[in-house]
Amino acid sequence: PSLLNLSRRLRRPSFIQIGRVRAVASHIVGYPRIGPKRELKFALESFWDGRSSAEDLEKVAKDLRMSIWKQMADAGTKFIPSNTFSYYDHILDTTVMLGAVPHRYGWTGGEIGFDVYFSMARGDATLPAMEMTKWFDTNYHYIVPELGPDLKFSCASHKAVNEYKEAKELGIETIPVLVGPVSYLLLSKLAEGIEKPFSLLSLLQKIIPVYKEVVSELKAAGATWVQLDEPTLVLDLDSDQLKAFTDAYTQLEESLHGLNVLVETYFADVPADAYRVVTGLRGVSAIGFDLVHGEKTLELIQDLSFPSDKYLFAGVVDGRNIWANDLSASLRTLKTLEGIVGKDKLVVSTSCSLLHTPVDLVNETKLDGEIKSWLAFAAQKIVEVNELAKALRGEKNEAFFSANAAAQASRKSSPRVNDKAVQEAASALRGSDHRRATPVTSRLDAQQKKLNLPILPTTTIGSFPQTRYLRRIRREYKESKISEAEYVKAIKEEISKVVRLQEELDIDVLVHGEPERNDMVEYFGEQLKGFAFTVNGWVQSYGSRCVKPPIIYGDVSRPKPMTVFWSTAAQSMTTRPIKGMLTGPVTILSWSFVRNDQPRFETCYQIALAIKNEVEDLEAAGIPVIQIDEAALREGLPLCKSEQAFYLEWAVHAFRITSCGVQDTTQIRSPRVFPSLRLNLPGCIRILYVILIMLLGLKSDSNALNTFMIHTHMCYSNFNNIIHSIIDMDADVVTIENSRSADKLLSVFREGVRYHAGIGPGVYDIHSPRIPSAEDIGNRINKMLAVLEKNALWVNPDCGLKTRKYSEVIPALTNMVAAAKLLRTQL
Ligand code: GLN
Ligand code: ZN
Repeated sequence: PSLLNLSRRLRRPSFIQIGRVRAVASHIVGYPRIGPKRELKFALESFWDGRSSAEDLEKVAKDLRMSIWKQMADAGTKFIPSNTFSYYDHILDTTVMLGAVPHRYGWTGGEIGFDVYFSMARGDATLPAMEMTKWFDTNYHYIVPELGPDLKFSCASHKAVNEYKEAKELGIETIPVLVGPVSYLLLSKLAEGIEKPFSLLSLLQKIIPVYKEVVSELKAAGATWVQLDEPTLVLDLDSDQLKAFTDAYTQLEESLHGLNVLVETYFADVPADAYRVVTGLRGVSAIGFDLVHGEKTLELIQDLSFPSDKYLFAGVVDGRNIWANDLSASLRTLKTLEGIVGKDKLVVSTSCSLLHTPVDLVNETKLDGEIKSWLAFAAQKIVEVNELAKALRGEKNEAFFSANAAAQASRKSSPRVNDKAVQEAASALRGSDHRRATPVTSRLDAQQKKLNLPILPTTTIGSFPQTRYLRRIRREYKESKISEAEYVKAIKEEISKVVRLQEELDIDVLVHGEPERNDMVEYFGEQLKGFAFTVNGWVQSYGSRCVKPPIIYGDVSRPKPMTVFWSTAAQSMTTRPIKGMLTGPVTILSWSFVRNDQPRFETCYQIALAIKNEVEDLEAAGIPVIQIDEAALREGLPLCKSEQAFYLEWAVHAFRITSCGVQDTTQIRSPRVFPSLRLNLPGCIRILYVILIMLLGLKSDSNALNTFMIHTHMCYSNFNNIIHSIIDMDADVVTIENSRSADKLLSVFREGVRYHAGIGPGVYDIHSPRIPSAEDIGNRINKMLAVLEKNALWVNPDCGLKTRKYSEVIPALTNMVAAAKLLRTQL
């Protein structure tokens, strides 16, 4: 309600018919479904748990759709999307629309209901869910269609037309949105058992008739526009793939007749060949481009021109970030475009669906006022789009524009954003390289001796089960319901239990269990300068799962140690080595909303410096092993192949910055070991002192340097193309997710990649409640031994244990250690 009031105050409510467009209009590509307070999430989960009925769920969904449409209409939006709502995922919705249900779900025909839909999405007692994968380079995940030659397609869901009619009944004319036929196929995979030469694109013939049916239904219901999302046009497509677009739209042309068709692209620049294809598509009257992520499309529009009979939907408001638009900059871009395509052919839009932003800033009651003035969530972006369109129509809202300009200026100059020292330190890093002083092979020997590890050493990935008790303790501490002393006591008790358990299990390298952490990024973000946190800034990750990314708004630094207290507490409880646990800079960056006023690598280097400080403090405090998690390194890979090498270079460099050790180049150990080096001794005495120290200390010194062990962990095993970057990270041990796709990883090594560091491919799947037997684990280790050096292999689960119960963790780890011990006797 507050939101509606806000937009009402800003704008007169208006009922707009989409017919001919006469002056610059406005459009929104898509909208978050989850609700301003995650209403859909709670409704879904309650329905799945059997606590509410299908009607209850449908009611919540309907109310959400209604309020979104009203909000867009009130803001003056001309092209309001429908069918961007989803109970789980829009690709799954398309699969359902096409009746492309894999046979195992037992669907025999008719309109597909919740039962089949949700078993495809989530699995059920007997069937696993369909595969889920990342949606382009976002943190959203879609359900991957499984297609093959024997699948029969038929229209099995009328959701698109139903939602169009639902809006129409409210007096709101919408533009129904469908996933385009070519992108749908390009985002699919072959069903199991189908041989490679079969081409997914050959299915176009079969799905086009269903699209025709849906389109004609929409026409019959009164639709005058339809939006077909073809985001794959931004990928590096080959000529066959591009030709599929031409073929598909030629086949659709006749049925699209009498309808305005918008083909929407997003997430990156459209390459020149794809630009030529999309601007030449038959039956298409409008094209949408993302003008925020990349600058080349704009150049193409200027250089190659734009068809004079088509509308240009200009995505100038960022759908993937939380920053308020720089309205005057956008206005300049739009005016340029207006000069090219004309007033009546230009439509102001978002860069992509607003699915990737939180819903509404009005629900941020705890955010600092100045920071808040720099932000815009989905609801605010709708207003921005409409204000830009109005300004182009000559109805500029001066107050709105000048408030925006003031906020932009305050963001630029604010001392909370700018920290000179950090900026200088980070930019000094750029030209230089950071490498550890000794090569990995000699490090491993020294580490082996110091830590006295057996062959096939065992370890875990960091977290132990997060119990309800732990969550309560953290919450009560946050809300000041318990004192710091009580909190510390409770967490230390938990650490001591976890340490004792690992000793009993006879694990070789122990962890403290991460009981003080809510989330591996939030925990660090909360302690770093330059980060802000929202209370309701949820973004859908998949289905009902949402994440609340931190906002990096300023230069990042570390005011004080973040993990040393807990790691040293753990180390004091055992004589075995404790592995300190940090999140790496690339992962912190990838899972946050990042600044748009400096390049990503700049922010990443700043975070790397903060983590480096932490590494050094842990090392100085006597923690012998440190794991720096880079769970998201692969996720950050840019869509466009030509940008990947640059990304990998700075991402891997950032990791090395954290772990190379400040003294690597000088061979002199940490200043803490020789504090007087920091004194200002006269020159010659200083030199003599240094020589003396070197003579006395070099041996043990370089030992210390060699024995300090860096682990990293990655939540994927698809190392194809990036294995050399992983090697270049120069960690001593890499632990990897492996159990869901074991062969992918091993094939990389089978192909003869030379890898000298330690490696711990997960020996069992922690995502499943199933307890692996010692025999299973042993077999798996043996498989790895066939391709990897026995001295290099570590034995560990494939990810953290925080989502598991102790009743699962204890037997699983018991079997893991038993398998490792048995194999040691056989090697
Ligand atoms: N150290 C983290 C944990 O064990 C790693 C989590 C992850 O890889 N996503 O929970
Ligand atoms: Zn993991």
